[in-house]
Amino acid sequence: MPKVIGLTGGIASGKSTVSELLSVHGFKIVDADIASRKAVEKGSKGLDQVRATFGDEAIGEDGNMNRSYVGDLVFNHPEKRLELNEIVHPIVREIMEKEKEAYLEDGYNVIMDIPLLYENDLQDTVDEVWLVYTSESIQIDRLMQRNDISMEDAKARVYSQISIDKKRRMADHVIDNRDSKIELKQNLEQLLVDEGYIENATDHSQEV
Ligand code: ATP
Repeated sequence: MPKVIGLTGGIASGKSTVSELLSVHGFKIVDADIASRKAVEKGSKGLDQVRATFGDEAIGEDGNMNRSYVGDLVFNHPEKRLELNEIVHPIVREIMEKEKEAYLEDGYNVIMDIPLLYENDLQDTVDEVWLVYTSESIQIDRLMQRNDISMEDAKARVYSQISIDKKRRMADHVIDNRDSKIELKQNLEQLLVDEGYIENATDHSQEV
């Protein structure tokens, strides 16, 4: 029976990096961030609902959602974030369910890449949860580098989520990403061997 695995972690803990590695091993990836964008893409019923709720300013000149306007609005008005979630979440769920079912029908193991899996209480929608782990200070460093933002901004984003140490205690398996990307690959492959998805881990000792 193919499995449905929820992949989560904290912001910038390495989920996308792990997803890419898993797709090389034949897993199919269903990505919550991509589904969230599809839910309000140009011409979608989701975007119509956003316009009806937040007004014409919520739509940019190019017909797409004006992400910075809507982002600022929900950041400053928590009740508006709830309204936005009420529009977007059911559509995202529908998109992700459809993708998942199609992959399962074809016999693939599926990775549901869901950054806010625990925040949105979605752990029971998957067979098991794998968590990509780094320390909070590494999260902050990598986030500052990747997004070119200040330490203050990076901290604010990291601390707005459930702490990664708390998530770690809830997960079925933890993939350690505190060290190099090569070590991450090794840790992941070890898990795939332990869980019977692959026979042997690759020898990465010659890689730099
Ligand atoms: P988000 O939640 O923001 O989508 P994410 O969990 O998908 O992030 P990635 O984008 O995979 O995280 O990784 C965050 C950043 O850290 C990226 O720039 C990535 O290249 C880098 N990174 C990931 N793992 C390592 C590592 N082991 N060593 C150094 N840099 C890393």
